[in-house]
Amino acid sequence: MEHFNRRNGTLFAQSYACSRLAEDFGTPLFVYSREALESAWQSFADALEKHPHLICYAVKANSNLAVLDVLARLGSGFDIVSGGELKRVLAAGGEPEKIVFSGVGKSRAELTEALEVGIRCFNIESEAELDRLAEIAEAMGVVAPISIRVNPDVDAQTHPYISTGLKENKFGISMEDAPAVYKKADGLDAIDVQGMDCHIGSQLTSINPYKDALQRLISLVDALAKEGIELSHLDVGGGQGICYEDETPLDIAEWAKCVIDAIGERKLEIIVEPGRYIAGPAGVLLTRVEYIKRNGDKNFAVVDAAMNDLIRPALYSAWQSIEPVEPGNAPEQEYDVVGPICESSDFLGKNRTLAIEQGDVLAVMSAGAYSFVMSSNYNTRARAAEVMVSGDDAYIVREREDVESLFASESLLP
Ligand SMILES: *Cc1c(COP(=O)(O)O)cnc(C)c1O
Repeated sequence: MEHFNRRNGTLFAQSYACSRLAEDFGTPLFVYSREALESAWQSFADALEKHPHLICYAVKANSNLAVLDVLARLGSGFDIVSGGELKRVLAAGGEPEKIVFSGVGKSRAELTEALEVGIRCFNIESEAELDRLAEIAEAMGVVAPISIRVNPDVDAQTHPYISTGLKENKFGISMEDAPAVYKKADGLDAIDVQGMDCHIGSQLTSINPYKDALQRLISLVDALAKEGIELSHLDVGGGQGICYEDETPLDIAEWAKCVIDAIGERKLEIIVEPGRYIAGPAGVLLTRVEYIKRNGDKNFAVVDAAMNDLIRPALYSAWQSIEPVEPGNAPEQEYDVVGPICESSDFLGKNRTLAIEQGDVLAVMSAGAYSFVMSSNYNTRARAAEVMVSGDDAYIVREREDVESLFASESLLP
């Protein structure tokens, strides 16, 4: 069930040799495996099979229309964080009634559009957002379904930039303030209180932060029920961790059991918002070695992908495996794998032992999530192409940008 696997030393994406993909489509190139996306999604569906549930893929992890299409065909729901993502999901065939809308800064236009198409739920992050939504819904003569994002104040034990469940960050409403906001929402005619949500962080490889958060959420659910506010769903967010280096991915069956046990006899549908777990292992970034150089004691492999293509190493000091796609004869040496951008933080990996030479193609593994979506045009670099391997075929699902298009909407002074 390895979707990226080696045969006689050659890296394959399903039945395609990655070296052939690099030849056919050029580099840098993102390659996604349809089967990998499907099997990761299916692990949630299997684990939650016996409980009412909705899997809402977190679109921000990888929002390519083909990725959304593959998941929509499985019946997936979607977790969006912008009006742009709403348009993508609809364009890819996602159903509005399976969309939940997260994010701290929803604009009037975004709330209006989401009400117009009739999404499943607004995940409210502040009292001010509740007021704005109620006002817009009332003016439109509709009722807005909501959940309140509660901040359970648990330490997700992950990188500070991707930890979101602690009191001091911008997300959600504190446990102390949540009851008052629920009571207020319950009293508004244009608001239908349906659920509670949380998202405590990303790349969690331990079940314990989920257990702690669930315990707190459930006690709040019960306290609200005593006040006559009955919720119908519990949205436990995403954050399920994957393997980049030597981490053991979160066990989805164990995670599901923990959620189902915490809910017990309560009549709560489970919503889950996995992003990285579904898209991360389903992608690799292929890049070609432009130059090998040596400065002082250091060897550098200068490759044609850069921090504008994959910013995780520069942004979070993230470690991703870098492997030649074909076995080589060059001597093994330790390299910093760096891009062409004029920043010292432009690296994909440091101190990697590799047997490589100029012209070789390397694969940066686990690059399906938070990779292309975070890419930019810094240094006027055209963004990479994206390819989806499906069965025995490979499809281009985003053309490589051409440089002229990058400044086509700019103008000279008259
Ligand atoms: C980013 C995010 C997710 C997905 O997180 P992953 O770590 O990719 O699973 C889910 N829900 C919310 C609200 C998010 O912000």
